[in-house]
Amino acid sequence: MSPSCEACGVSARGGGYDLRKPGGTEHRCLRCAFRYRPLLQRSSKIALLVGTVLTLLNQGDQLFGLAPRSALLWWKIGLTYVVPFCVATYGSLANAKRS
Ligand SMILES: [Zn+2]
Repeated sequence: MSPSCEACGVSARGGGYDLRKPGGTEHRCLRCAFRYRPLLQRSSKIALLVGTVLTLLNQGDQLFGLAPRSALLWWKIGLTYVVPFCVATYGSLANAKRS
């Protein structure tokens, strides 16, 4: 029998996720794991740092006027932040997966 989610109380199918919290872990289902604030904050910090470095490396010439601006510049910058957020979130959840 699967342990139940500590946030919503449903039985976590597939084993659920043991997410770190101060002083231990908290067991959650996938839906509640996606809404776990410390995980989202950690992913956001990583996305901000990595996204900024990648934006400067890849789009810096356009941002500082050294190259003509592409019409897709702001799209690319947005996606440059989304990708590390998704990777960090996936990595955290894969690491927290209870088998
Ligand atoms: Zn839940």
